[in-house]
Amino acid sequence: MTVLVLGGTAEARALAAQLHERDFHVVSSLAGRVAHPRLPPGEVRVGGFGGVDGLVAWLREHDVQAVVDATHPFAERIGTNAFAAAERTGIPLLRLARPGWQEREGDRWHWADNLSEAAALLPGLGHRVFLTSGRQGLAAFADLGELWFLIRCVDPPEPPLPPHHEVRLDRGPYEVDGERALLTGHRIEVLVTKDSGGTMTAAKLTAARELGLPVVVVRRPPRPATTVAAEVAEAVQWVRNRGVHNR
Ligand code: NAP
Repeated sequence: MTVLVLGGTAEARALAAQLHERDFHVVSSLAGRVAHPRLPPGEVRVGGFGGVDGLVAWLREHDVQAVVDATHPFAERIGTNAFAAAERTGIPLLRLARPGWQEREGDRWHWADNLSEAAALLPGLGHRVFLTSGRQGLAAFADLGELWFLIRCVDPPEPPLPPHHEVRLDRGPYEVDGERALLTGHRIEVLVTKDSGGTMTAAKLTAARELGLPVVVVRRPPRPATTVAAEVAEAVQWVRNRGVHNR
């Protein structure tokens, strides 16, 4: 009797830790995109399931009693698959999702629906860009030959990339002082981010506000309508309420 936590986020690790501590049999699942991921306590499996069919088979094979989709707000496909697999098997599903970031006084945010829209906004906002939207999907910026990019991600980004760029491999959490120094040191004029939410990577927004820089914020993709928890403690309670037995 197992709780499956679809992970790849700090919240997923915290949830796995708390469930493990309370003696639930928890298996955390990672996509396997990051070369050296931070691993949660408890059992971990790595790699895709093979679509909805594969996930359904896995859930049945491992006697899963509850699924928590704690994947990143922009991991759209696994979220859709988890929803479909839960519908098909009747296994209860919770989405654990940190709230999005809120615009504050002094912010100069420009919302975009996706990375292509973000790229289209850039030439009107600045020529030296701090691109923090992750290593995937950067092809959307590849044609912006007149701009210069500082690209920050955990693992090397997937080509094609814009012709003028520097890659900085790094992993949060980040502090405001460091982010301010990075922005001024590279004479950044505009920042691009997904609306990831949470505190680990929010310092760049504070630094941009202080420096008066515009920020292009990519909106979250829609997720299937299911029960949602914003906090790890809420998700722990949800698992307990499902009547899942401890080990
Ligand atoms: P995605 O587009 O939603 O998923 C693509 C495929 O990867 C899925 O169909 C699934 O393969 C596999 N997959 C994704 N998450 C998985 C998981 N937790 N366990 C097992 N298989 C998984 O996902 P993505 O945007 O590439 O993100 C991949 C992972 O990185 C996620 O776990 C997410 O939490 C984490 N992450 C994503 C972002 C982001 O910006 N997208 C940022 C930080 C962390 P099958 O169909 O074969 O099952």
